[in-house]
Amino acid sequence: MGCPDARGNTCASPWGIAPVYAETMTDDRRFLCDEMLAGLGRWLRIAGYDTEITECGRRDRELVEQAEAEGRILLTRDRRMIEIRRARDHTLVLESNDIDACARELTRRAGVDWTLDPLSRCNRCNTRLEPVAPALVQTLPPRIRALEGPVNVCPRCGRLYWEGSHTRRIRRRLAAFGDTGTDERTE
Ligand SMILES: [Zn+2]
Repeated sequence: MGCPDARGNTCASPWGIAPVYAETMTDDRRFLCDEMLAGLGRWLRIAGYDTEITECGRRDRELVEQAEAEGRILLTRDRRMIEIRRARDHTLVLESNDIDACARELTRRAGVDWTLDPLSRCNRCNTRLEPVAPALVQTLPPRIRALEGPVNVCPRCGRLYWEGSHTRRIRRRLAAFGDTGTDERTE
């Protein structure tokens, strides 16, 4: 099935259409970013989406097979990817270059909600964060203990996450990803 996006391009993917997701409360789509889109992938994790990022050197066919096996949407900028058998059903080829432009393209073309569940996942390894156990809070540096808001930990890699000026900047950038008004004005 094809659907025209804001630029009038037709995408082959059934995920290319936005309104269904824009109006529902939950979005459990999962993504797989190729190595060129690793930065975008980390931002999808920050927004709350289950997102795998491929290691360098994997073959395109393996990526398509992983996307199919795990029910993920493969994100790439490589047009040749969709020439692989059955890739069209699982692949969205992005046309933008930098992270911000790719993020806004995902908003427009796939209805990605950048405020889905921010800062709920480890951006390093994609694992869902958990609250730090009270006993462990006492072992944290005083400057982190003094902050308001929860301290979370990644149960897989142990990275700690807390609220602060950096998370306010992150939330502002996520909000900007969802604002496609600038693109529409320039098109
Ligand atoms: Zn982690």
